[in-house]
This record gives sequence, structure tokens and C-alpha cells, in this order.
Amino acid sequence: MRVLVISDIHANLAAFEAVLEDAKGEWDVIWFLGDLVGYGPDPNECVEVLRSLDHFSLSGNHDWAYLGRLDLATFNEDARRAIGWTQEVITEDNREYIDSLESLDEVAGFTLAHASPRHPVWEYILEVSTAAANFEYFEGQVCLVGHTHVPIIYSQESEEVSAYTPTYDLVLDLRNSHRMIINPGSVGQPRDSDPRASYALLDLDKMEWQHCRVPYPIAETQARMRKHRLPKRLIIRLDYGW
Ligand code: ZN
Repeated sequence: MRVLVISDIHANLAAFEAVLEDAKGEWDVIWFLGDLVGYGPDPNECVEVLRSLDHFSLSGNHDWAYLGRLDLATFNEDARRAIGWTQEVITEDNREYIDSLESLDEVAGFTLAHASPRHPVWEYILEVSTAAANFEYFEGQVCLVGHTHVPIIYSQESEEVSAYTPTYDLVLDLRNSHRMIINPGSVGQPRDSDPRASYALLDLDKMEWQHCRVPYPIAETQARMRKHRLPKRLIIRLDYGW
């Protein structure tokens, strides 16, 4: 079985469609690590496209905020405005779908968490020390996380944890390798100074992992964000990937 591993679509349909097109024929099932909505202009469309495909899905902190499970005061003003707009436009059926999702689970021996296995909704694994602490909170070989919007591999070798920035043409052999926490990056709002949509392919039979990037029509997403009067800063950042 081959898996398309994606995270943080954030209601960016053009980016989501570009990933699906780029990965066409390379996967049998999607594992989505959460944050379907928030920031972007196409929440209903993204939920509906995901639901139409064979998939497993988690919910993220923006999904929780949209559902009213988190205090919006903990979000910055731009994120808050985008969540408020999302609450106005999303259909009841799509709301129920998002409400049904968990933020941490295990699939085919992999631990999947939106943010981290220790704090599945909130914690940002941006430092080696945070990653090191999180290796105590899952039992298998590999944990997949999203949330930071930055593709990265943390590898635990004996007691040492190291961070690696992914190389895109490299196929990683997960067999007999170290324990890892891997982030596939964000589909809809990358933050590693590369504006292209980020995703990964996982072959469960060969146990091979590959990070991938694909450009998408950013201007299309930005035009819809302007039409819905979403915050300017959220529109501009898509050009730069921050
Ligand atoms: Zn996110």
C-alpha cells in the first residue's frame, strides 16, 4: 500500500489539487495530519475533496478553533479573522465531519499526531530538544506530525536526536533505520521559505519515504482570499512561504 501523507491544507484548494495531480498514480490512500480549515478561502471545497478520496484524517488546532473547542483569544488576529469567516461559510455536513476527527491515532504501526505525540493539538516541534522529549510519547518506529508547516526529519540514534532538512529526490529507507519523527510540511501554507506545496509519499510495502514539492497557482488562492476579505498578511505570506 502506498500512502500520500499530507498536512495543513488550510482551505487552499489550488495547492491541494496541485498535490493530488503531482502525486497521481503514486498512492492508494491519503493520511491527512490535520488543519483542513483556517487561513484559506476554500474550506468547504477542501473538506469535500478530501472526503471524496480514500483517506484517514486527523483534526488540528485550527479545526478545533473553528469548532469552538479552543479559545480564539489564543490565536493571532489574522488567524482569528480567518476562523471567524470559516465559521460563517462552512456547511453543517462538513462541520459534522470535522467534529468527528481525532488529533492522535495509530495507523499501520505509525503514530500520527497533528502537533506532537505529547500534546497532539498544540505543541510545536521546532527544536531538537522538543523532538527528543517527544520520542518518549510513542512506541513505534515512526511518528508523523504536521502543525509547524516546516518539512523536517528528527532521527534518534542511541540517545542523540538530530534534525535533517529533507532532500526532495532522496528516497529514505525506513527499514532497519532509527526511530524518527517526520513532518511532511504544509500543503496550503508552507513556512520554510519555499512557497511550493509540500507533501510526502510513503510506500508501506517497501517502507520507503520521499518528500515532494510542487508549485501551484498561488494567485488563484490569493484572488479568492481578497474576494472574501481575508487578512492581507495571510494573502502575502503565500508568495514567500513564511
Ligand atoms: Zn496549520
